[in-house]
Amino acid sequence: MTRVFNFSAGPAALPETVLRQAAEEMLDWQGSGMSVMEMSHRGREFMSIAAEAETLLRRLLAVPAGYKVLFMQGGAIAENAIVPMNLLRGHASADYIDTGEWSKKSIKEAKKYGRVNVAASAADSGYTTIPARETWKLDPEAAYVHICSNETIGGVEYHFTPEVGSVPLVADMSSSILSRPVDVSKYGAIYGGAQKNIGPAGLTIVIVRDDLLGGALPVTPSAFDYKTVADNESMYNTPPTYAIYIAGLVFKWLEAQGGLAAIEAHNRQKAALLYDYLDTTRFYSAPVARDCRSLMNVPFKLHDEALDGAFLKGAEARGMMQLKGHRSVGGMRASIYNAMPLAGVQALVAYMKEFEAKNG
Ligand SMILES: *Cc1c(COP(=O)(O)O)cnc(C)c1O
Repeated sequence: MTRVFNFSAGPAALPETVLRQAAEEMLDWQGSGMSVMEMSHRGREFMSIAAEAETLLRRLLAVPAGYKVLFMQGGAIAENAIVPMNLLRGHASADYIDTGEWSKKSIKEAKKYGRVNVAASAADSGYTTIPARETWKLDPEAAYVHICSNETIGGVEYHFTPEVGSVPLVADMSSSILSRPVDVSKYGAIYGGAQKNIGPAGLTIVIVRDDLLGGALPVTPSAFDYKTVADNESMYNTPPTYAIYIAGLVFKWLEAQGGLAAIEAHNRQKAALLYDYLDTTRFYSAPVARDCRSLMNVPFKLHDEALDGAFLKGAEARGMMQLKGHRSVGGMRASIYNAMPLAGVQALVAYMKEFEAKNG
């Protein structure tokens, strides 16, 4: 068996120890005689799996009292609709900060449910920056302020938590959740699909402040009404049971790594290795402004895009997969989520140097 270094943006690499434990428990979870996939979501065994996953997530992120943790489905793209349906709460509009592809999708979807005020946009920079907080034109009457903490495609990440006064801050954290500590108390809601940094696709994590529940638009599907989901402890309908189980194993793995402060140090080390090299060569370039470079998704370009195919082919021959950039931006992208070991980034940088020496 050979495991590759998987630089996919999502679904993405998972810790090998997690996959091994899941393999061991596949046919018989802890003496139950069943696979987790075969269990009733209301049975004693699965209820304990789900409860432990929630406890671990709350502990990792230090989620304060007064917040619900919801295990939902539909991914972040469904949340782009679910958020306004739940959080507009009679307000005329919501503020959105436009920092790239994922913000644009959120904005487009939210417009179906209410008025959207794009309070700041990084379009002028070609989405290589985060607009400075002082430039945001926020509406104090807005239902919420929506940001995308980490633009998975553009590789642009917030390295600050914006102060937005008493208006709830809402963040799509799909690709940065659990990569470092977050002060949850600064947010009204945080959401993200699991398949970047947590586990299998199919699970969506929502963390939402209690006082924001209960005001969903009447058309909101019951399964997407945060209050209904919360009142039923994420079991209003059948939750993605196997994905929750794997997420729980990943949370346990994260604790064993030392928690989010330790994983942040590891992530910073990995990202620095790649960015430091990108900054010393003219053969490759990194498009994103230094102060908002993503720790998770590192886009870069070869100076001559005619070499892209050869670069990818050589990488694959060396067991480094999924380095092709998103079709909307081209070039390369190395996604280096929590589960990517330092050795994977070291191998990538060594290969980049070798490729430059041969073709530079
Ligand atoms: C991947 C991603 C999405 C889309 O998630 P789905 O699970 O496909 O709905 C949305 N936002 C961000 C920031 C992402 O990284």
